[in-house]
Amino acid sequence: MPETVNIRTIQHFMYCPRRYGLLELNKDWSENVYVVKANIMHEHVHDGSHNFSDGTKVVRSAVSIYNDMPEYDLYGVADCIEFVKAKTGAAISGLDGKYKVRIVEYKPKAPQDKAFRESDAIQVFAQKICADFVWKCDSEAFLYYSDTRKRVKLPFSEEFDKYDLMLKKLLDEMREVMEQNKIPPRRRGQKCSGCSVKDICFPKDKWYSVREIIMSMKRDGEI
Ligand code: SF4
Repeated sequence: MPETVNIRTIQHFMYCPRRYGLLELNKDWSENVYVVKANIMHEHVHDGSHNFSDGTKVVRSAVSIYNDMPEYDLYGVADCIEFVKAKTGAAISGLDGKYKVRIVEYKPKAPQDKAFRESDAIQVFAQKICADFVWKCDSEAFLYYSDTRKRVKLPFSEEFDKYDLMLKKLLDEMREVMEQNKIPPRRRGQKCSGCSVKDICFPKDKWYSVREIIMSMKRDGEI
């Protein structure tokens, strides 16, 4: 039975398949300054202080979403969903009237050489797949970069098929890692300097796995 995928793990996999394997198979974890900064920002976004309603929209933070269609089978938590009143929008359970659904995902740092990172966009595309499934809508999606305080609209209407193919390919590859139950080797050219698990990764050791070492020691009666 294929694994249901948590949206937040897609970025781990895109950043480095080995990191994904260490986190998801070995349950390894370690933080560095980048992880702590991102956590602090998300704690603030999710603390409820962003929830509000006025005559035009209802804003909710930390919204659970999912899509259990077999080609996706995803779940996750969106930083922020804005329900914007619109005559042609979708009916939202618990709200009067009709609304456009707008996803806003917060990121600490904007890239310097382009409008957005593809890995950020894919994470939000996965949220869109879930939001559209839950609310039967065609949601808009934005990235908000805290350092520049700018929202960037993501081109999902124009490039839906491209992002859909990318997402499905990633989901297949991620599920393959989980099925094989092996930590992938370090990718050629992988940059490791910003990785929070580099002290426990041993990137040069091809198939290193703490669990496998312990299990083989157990099998051999060494422990
Ligand atoms: S240290 Fe390098 S190879 Fe290891 S998980 Fe991090 S990015 Fe991947």
